Amino acid sequence: MENCLFCKIIKGEIPCKKVYEDDEILAFYDINPAAPIHILVIPKKHITSLAHLEKEDEILIGKIYGVINKISEEQGFKQDGYRVIVNCGKNGGQQVMHLHFHILAGKQMGEKVL
Ligand code: AMP
Ligand code: ZN
Repeated sequence: MENCLFCKIIKGEIPCKKVYEDDEILAFYDINPAAPIHILVIPKKHITSLAHLEKEDEILIGKIYGVINKISEEQGFKQDGYRVIVNCGKNGGQQVMHLHFHILAGKQMGEKVL
């Protein structure tokens, strides 16, 4: 997708601090961390938001959670726990219109909405 920031990161046109990569998924550090550890996990396929998911994408979403679990283990925050956030659309506060999963870790999360 042209002019999509995260597609440019996937193509290597914009640099990132990579945490994990396979054929379908990329994970990298957020440029403006909201926690001591703040990682973004994205599908390499351009999916605009959760609202744009197609039936065929559901297996990929399952794989993303598998990657999150793997990253938490490798980075050493699995045991202490962490938070996963997906912002969707305007009311969800989504700014980058390429589906991404925030992983926040390394501190006690305080500001619970739910
Ligand atoms: P959201 O508000 O859910 O759309 O989240 C977008 C996230 O992308 C924010 O946490 C930004 O800090 C992050 N972000 C924006 N540009 C970059 C970049 N070039 N590299 C890494 N993270 C970025
Ligand atoms: Zn994209």
